[in-house]
Amino acid sequence: MNYLNKIFVFFFVIVLTSNWTVAQDDKAKDKDLLKIIKKMSVKEKVGQMTQINIDVISVGELFNLEEPHKLDTPKLEKAIKEYYVGSFLNAGGHDYTLEHWRDVIKTIQDMAMENKREVPIIYGIDAIHGAGYLTNSTLFPQPLAQAATFNPDLVKQGAAITAYETRASGIPWNFSPVLDVARQPLWSRVFETYGEDVYLCTELGKACVEGYQGDDISDPTKVAACLKHFYGYSWPFTGKDRTPVYAHERTLREYFLPPFQAAINEGAASIMINSGELNGIPVHIDKSILTDLLRSELGFEGVAVTDWEDIYKLHRNHNVAASLKDAVRMAIDAGVDMSMTPLDYQFNDLLIELVDEGEITEERLDQSVYRILKMKKKLGLFENPYGYTEGNYDNLFSDEFQKAAYNTAAEGITLLKNEDNILPLKKDKKVFLTGPAADSRILINGAWTRTWQGTDPKFDDPKKLTIRQALENNFDQVDYVEGSTLDELKITDAHVRQAMNSDVVVVCLAEKPSTEIPGNIDDLNYNESSIELIKALEEAEKNIVLVLVQNRPRIIREIEPLCSSIIMAYQFGDNGAQALADIISGKVNPSGKLPITYPKHTNTLLTYDHKHTEKFDVNFGTEAFDPQFEFGDGLSYTSFEYSDLKIDKKSFSKNEDIQITVNVKNTGNRAGKETVLLFIADDYASVTPSVKRLRGFQKKNIEEGKTETYTFNLNAQDLAFIGIDNKPVVEKGSFTILINDLKETFEIQ
Ligand code: BGC
Repeated sequence: MNYLNKIFVFFFVIVLTSNWTVAQDDKAKDKDLLKIIKKMSVKEKVGQMTQINIDVISVGELFNLEEPHKLDTPKLEKAIKEYYVGSFLNAGGHDYTLEHWRDVIKTIQDMAMENKREVPIIYGIDAIHGAGYLTNSTLFPQPLAQAATFNPDLVKQGAAITAYETRASGIPWNFSPVLDVARQPLWSRVFETYGEDVYLCTELGKACVEGYQGDDISDPTKVAACLKHFYGYSWPFTGKDRTPVYAHERTLREYFLPPFQAAINEGAASIMINSGELNGIPVHIDKSILTDLLRSELGFEGVAVTDWEDIYKLHRNHNVAASLKDAVRMAIDAGVDMSMTPLDYQFNDLLIELVDEGEITEERLDQSVYRILKMKKKLGLFENPYGYTEGNYDNLFSDEFQKAAYNTAAEGITLLKNEDNILPLKKDKKVFLTGPAADSRILINGAWTRTWQGTDPKFDDPKKLTIRQALENNFDQVDYVEGSTLDELKITDAHVRQAMNSDVVVVCLAEKPSTEIPGNIDDLNYNESSIELIKALEEAEKNIVLVLVQNRPRIIREIEPLCSSIIMAYQFGDNGAQALADIISGKVNPSGKLPITYPKHTNTLLTYDHKHTEKFDVNFGTEAFDPQFEFGDGLSYTSFEYSDLKIDKKSFSKNEDIQITVNVKNTGNRAGKETVLLFIADDYASVTPSVKRLRGFQKKNIEEGKTETYTFNLNAQDLAFIGIDNKPVVEKGSFTILINDLKETFEIQ
């Protein structure tokens, strides 16, 4: 064959194989959906790729809607009939009743069904700790507090209940779970995460997706999950939301990718893109992440939706696109399926222009529209666009659901200090109660509760207990004074004298509920008034029980020595106040453990799995890692003794199973739940190893005087780290198992 012939054959083969691939691809696809897409105009396709905020279709101004909420028919017609919008999101300012949600969904879907293609709308909402935008819904502790349970069953159950209540209102798509790993404690969204450890986030993320989706998302008690925010969002250098993250690919793959990978393998239906920039590139234009990594490598087939206004932000905030049109082109090119536009139709007009001009192909739109229609179909919306089925939700807002939320709070609330076993307190102890969180519902609930920031008490559920009311249930006498608002000290000498007449002082400090940019802080220290409140109460010379109700770990170094007991309450939700009171009074034995390192100093924000060099102090000792409390800390009212740490062999090949067992005896005088944390250190490795890594955890109830054996079944591959070539590797050498204060070593050959 001469040279030209060879080239001809080469191109012929390429053309043949690429056609073959397309044909094969289409073969595997849903014929009905392909038929619909074939008939769609470019405008209809772009409409499917658009998500619009409910404000745009409601009566009133954007973010200032008329009350009570009403859909605005001409605006809705513009969205559905003129622009063929395929998705809406959010609640217009605050929660709605079940009936109102159903009405909203029905009105929207009825109009969508008037369109020729009869493609249902998909409605999305942020129900991150219960169906927060549904009046009377069951609120769970925020995810960080759920992580403190170290109990995937509770996380799954909470997600299943959230799905049930969300879907009952006709909403089939939940923008949750947040799978960002919280390795920057300043960040405003720490409370939305499962903490700082990648293994914990991975395991709980999987449990959450299972709870939301079950086996089949067409089930009218299930929702499509949306993994957030892909990826590398949670490590802003400044600590401020949506500011640059600088991270080597190795670091990203080691600490930030695994939860997404696992949840994708679990079948998660959708993913939301990181709003920020990663190594100087906004993720919304990064094809290497949105297409190469997400699609080709991770095999994700679901819908990739942008975060809020993020395509426009490429032009307005990131300055990588010289015009909005460029921004649209770049994002679609990179792999975005759906634009959370969400306040106007410029995205639509510009994308249509780009297709007309040949800048974006119609095939590219087809790819995204197919994914979107597929998700709608899997949800069963083509058969039942209303999303819910009549008369099927007997458990809605039930005592059973609230009890589940209570149980999660009870297992998450973490006792960090208990000098001289001050807690639990007997019923007849006179309690002096004070502090901003003591009589508030918004503070225990946090953001994404009835409103975005969760700061308006107008939307509280008055049937739910505050800490004060819950303590009043458990103690004969509770004297309450406000003591301090979030930023103003109100304690007087008379109050301090009153405290002197009590047996114990309970102070509930809090951080204002917030998320995203409104939650940015300049300083991790507690504010002055909180510190001063504790100092003033020290004068009463009573034991102080400090309860911390907060989005993220705020520095308490100065006041810690003044408090006999310290409880990390996180934001435990409005079914949790009774759980806290039951822990204080001893009805419940605490079993929560910190899912995040609690720092002591604002400038030493280390994680438990820091590197060896981060331990060195000024004297060249190795005591520099000195947080206020460690990841995994958490006390019980009973005591546990660990013994007999065993490994089935001393040496393993790189693919061998490894079995590790340890015995834990309850040596105290009441039953208690104990989570065993299995840490393993890779003693020497080609990429500097962490001092230890969590490789397993298990929680069991142990009766008084009894011993339980905890068995961990691992494979040597579970010890992999991301190597020099950015790929997972298990290296030969010695490893050390660290469980509590027990140690064992073994070898990988
Ligand atoms: C947040 C997302 C959220 C979306 C829709 C954004 O501002 O970053 O987490 O899902 O709004 O409410």
